Amino acid sequence: PALTGDQIRQKFLEFYAAKGHRILPSASLIPEDPTVLLTIAGMLPFKPIFLGQQAPTVPRATTSQKCIRTNDIENVGRTARHHTFFEMLGNFSFGDYFKTEAISWAWELLTEVYQLPPDRLVVSVFESDDQAWEIWHKKIGIPPEKICRMGEESNFWTAGPTGPCGPCSEIYYDFHPEHGTKDIDLDDDSRFIELYNLVFMELNQDSNKQRTPLQAKNIDTGMGLERMAQVLQGVPNNYETDLIFPIIQATANLANLNYADSPETTKTSLKVIGDHIRAVVHLISDGVSASNVGRGYVLRRLIRRVVRHGRLVGINKPFTTEVAEVALQMSEAVYPQVRQRQAVILSELEREEENFLKTLDRGEKLLAEIIAKAKSSKKKSKPAMISGLDAFTLYDTYGFPLELTQEIAAEQGLTVDEKGFEKEMESQRQRSQAAHETIDLTVQGSLDQLAEHIHPTKFIGYDQFALTTEIA
Ligand code: ATP
Ligand code: MG
Ligand code: MG
Ligand code: MG
Repeated sequence: PALTGDQIRQKFLEFYAAKGHRILPSASLIPEDPTVLLTIAGMLPFKPIFLGQQAPTVPRATTSQKCIRTNDIENVGRTARHHTFFEMLGNFSFGDYFKTEAISWAWELLTEVYQLPPDRLVVSVFESDDQAWEIWHKKIGIPPEKICRMGEESNFWTAGPTGPCGPCSEIYYDFHPEHGTKDIDLDDDSRFIELYNLVFMELNQDSNKQRTPLQAKNIDTGMGLERMAQVLQGVPNNYETDLIFPIIQATANLANLNYADSPETTKTSLKVIGDHIRAVVHLISDGVSASNVGRGYVLRRLIRRVVRHGRLVGINKPFTTEVAEVALQMSEAVYPQVRQRQAVILSELEREEENFLKTLDRGEKLLAEIIAKAKSSKKKSKPAMISGLDAFTLYDTYGFPLELTQEIAAEQGLTVDEKGFEKEMESQRQRSQAAHETIDLTVQGSLDQLAEHIHPTKFIGYDQFALTTEIA
């Protein structure tokens, strides 16, 4: 039988413990680092050590770190591999072992512990990192055509404009080795999935962008638990692994749906719920409460998306606490704190959901006015239509999905200007992309600019706030 998610985590930690690593607990999703909003990678708790601001207490450590990446929120349910909340397994060397061991052990772990067939693995190295290339080729025996040299953007890590940095080497799983090794494109996610990223921190960058060798070289790595589970459990995406699927099934049951028989859009909604519920449970467990700023805003946005996608799959009553209970059960063995914080988690969810349902009600009232207006201005020749802008306002400010607007409109003999709606969506997307472009929440980018990432909130009434953007 395939390994469970818990077993995959356990085997990783045990493997590196046997290689002299201290197993450390996951740090909170609320980082100590004041420049970062949420813990986005396993290395974050060790950043002061890597920056030389703090002495390491051990030379080698291994963790399973809870992470949240809001920059992947649009990917949730759409790619097979991205979550907001996920666990990053990592092994770290603080001025101790370096490239040869990092590469050899990663390989040993994947091929011997997890027993992935070597011919299913493809690796990347930084274009000028001949050392890593040689280790992969000569020591491990990977044929040259399966060692892809990649550029700075994907395979060079920096912690900011200055400071420690270095080349990365990634390990990918190949779903279609039968397609051959000619012109391998690692960005083709119908064929490859990135499992494990090894960062070789060996340089220091000064303010003139000059790079000089670091005295103490470090290793920082990250392997996605849910992705490894997908591969080892032989399911088509992270969501159908034992780490998430029970939440999806519980939600499907509440909606009287069968996941397997559902159309793609329904599956996507169920995946979004499966993903976000885990994020929400752990965020509240770690001390975040919903608000309109910072982490609280992230939490509020996630909860609202859960509620909205619940409506999309036909759940018309409060349901979030019920599915959260499934997530609690699934994680309490590894994270006992979530059970200790159960009361806070459930009451926070209940309150937020109730408030948002009221906002949705207000949207319904607005929609009724829009319908009345459309009917009274109806031209004789054409059927009455709700404008794209009105539909977009309902969606954007009141979290009203287009499908809901269409359904209600249809009951009144009206249609919705779908093209106009898409146009508004597109300009919204462009606006938010422009805002995203300067921000890179991944470890490849700067870690220092997260606070600005949060969108402003528009005041829409005397007593209530609503989100202006992306309750998509
Ligand atoms: P991708 O290119 O697939 O977006 P990444 O290069 O952004 O991944 P890293 O920053 O290198 O990812 O993080 C290390 C590992 O953590 C990845 O190799 C992957 O296994 C996992 N990981 C990263 N982002 C996510 C996510 N949003 N959801 C689940 N796992 C993730
Ligand atoms: Mg990548
Ligand atoms: Mg990577
Ligand atoms: Mg990424």
